[in-house]
Amino acid sequence: MNAKTQEKLRKQLEARKSEIESDVSYMANEMRSIGREQDDENGSLGNHIADDGSNVAEAERIVIVTEDFQQILAQVNSALERMNEGTYGTCQRCGKVIGHARLDAFPYVAHCIDCQSLLEREQALRAGA
Ligand SMILES: [Zn+2]
Repeated sequence: MNAKTQEKLRKQLEARKSEIESDVSYMANEMRSIGREQDDENGSLGNHIADDGSNVAEAERIVIVTEDFQQILAQVNSALERMNEGTYGTCQRCGKVIGHARLDAFPYVAHCIDCQSLLEREQALRAGA
């Protein structure tokens, strides 16, 4: 991969990173406003959540979404680390070069498409699926 391509992908990763970070802090705010509403029924923050039952469901949704974000954030951060180490763009499992189209679509991926599907199958097996 040439330096120019990598620089382009680095910018994408950094943009993605700040996007996810602001999503995560948005979610944290939502979570806090749910907590506030539960403490104070007169909460006037315009939160549309009606009752405690949906608050719980909403809180669970936020936790799940936040975990997703944090997983992607971890992948983005390690992709940026690999760029600094000079190992970016090669599969972390088999060492093959990851296709440009794949990196263009998912600049944070750590594995080539073959290893990725292998790893996903292994994961599914471990999960008992
Ligand atoms: Zn591979």
